[in-house]
Amino acid sequence: MGADDYESAELGRVSVARLIMGLRAQGIRDARVLKAIETVPRNQFVEESYAELAYDDRSLPIQCGQTISQPFIVAYMTEMLKVSDRDKVLEIGTGSGYQAAVLAKLCRRVYTIERYRTLHKIAEQRIKDLGISNVTAMVGDGMKGWPAQAPFDKIIVTAAADEIPQDLIDQLKVGGIMVIPVGPVGGVQFLHRVVRTEDGYQDDALIGVRFVPLVPGKAEQL
Ligand code: SAH
Repeated sequence: MGADDYESAELGRVSVARLIMGLRAQGIRDARVLKAIETVPRNQFVEESYAELAYDDRSLPIQCGQTISQPFIVAYMTEMLKVSDRDKVLEIGTGSGYQAAVLAKLCRRVYTIERYRTLHKIAEQRIKDLGISNVTAMVGDGMKGWPAQAPFDKIIVTAAADEIPQDLIDQLKVGGIMVIPVGPVGGVQFLHRVVRTEDGYQDDALIGVRFVPLVPGKAEQL
């Protein structure tokens, strides 16, 4: 390792530590979640040109006009899911693959769906390069869920829906939790926590958020 490499590794550690402190200050308490965020190198999930900003608590642009979520939002949504190491988790909106990698540290298996083939491929490669082997990814319309793998203990949707898709509720186990942003593009969106019950579901609004929209169907191009 050369002097430059050493310096950048050191800078990386300092940036990660600062990010974790910031997340704690914003109320993230779950030690397992904080550890997972500390472990997954977010700089490897953004374009080279944004690598320096990778540990700032902000969302960043990725390909296909999409975004990698802000670390606080990743931490908050993951905490709200109460993921256990036995859980089978479905993610809608693979994007950069970062959220899937964080979840993979905390559960048995992550199934993740992306509508852009380009994003799916890059994310899958990154996850593989990190030696993470409990993520299964596919290209498809996440609004329909993943019936062949249902039911899921937890579902996380990382794009904003106009309303909670019934197919996703149907694929949640009784007692299972779904976290999903609901609201119009550019308008007021709230993160919702949905808990599946025997005869329906319980729905709570949590915090205001801003996400790219959940768009039906596979992307035509890319
Ligand atoms: N979880 C991602 C955030 C990506 S942004 C990360 O950690 O980086 C949301 C993603 O949802 C975008 O990549 C978008 O293409 C995808 N998306 C939107 N609608 C979708 C749908 N119906 N099915 C699957 N993916 C969808």
